[in-house]
Amino acid sequence: MTTRIDCPSAQPGSRASRIFGVATGPLAERRIGYLTAPVEAAPEVLAKAGYAKPTELFRIAAPCAKAACRHYNGACTLGQRIVTSLPPVVSGPPPCQIRPTCRWHHEHGDAACLRCPQVVTDKVGASEAEIRIAEGPARTEPA
Ligand code: SF4
Repeated sequence: MTTRIDCPSAQPGSRASRIFGVATGPLAERRIGYLTAPVEAAPEVLAKAGYAKPTELFRIAAPCAKAACRHYNGACTLGQRIVTSLPPVVSGPPPCQIRPTCRWHHEHGDAACLRCPQVVTDKVGASEAEIRIAEGPARTEPA
């Protein structure tokens, strides 16, 4: 039996996508509040983001796309950059409902969870350093 692994920073519209966290606080210091139960990322729920992109407000989980994702090279390089480049922002793992299937936790354990609350999938006003962490190194096209 294969265990499904979820991306914890997915885009809406992915298969079986569900909201498990909501960004709170001022733009400069957003923190994720983790829901006590995930909510299906249905159009009417995503519409609550108003003029914002849903991923500016919601953290969405969906099955990891593996090789179809630019961050995947056998492991999640986004999760790796987060763990190696961002500081912990909480002293213990938050009460997150997707932990059993989370790609980042699967690969990095609680080190990912201690940094996760500061991750906003589409962060308004992200710094250059945050953009580098989000996007990773530029890909070089074959000549
Ligand atoms: S890294 Fe931890 S807190 Fe963040 S989504 Fe995964 S299990 Fe939840």
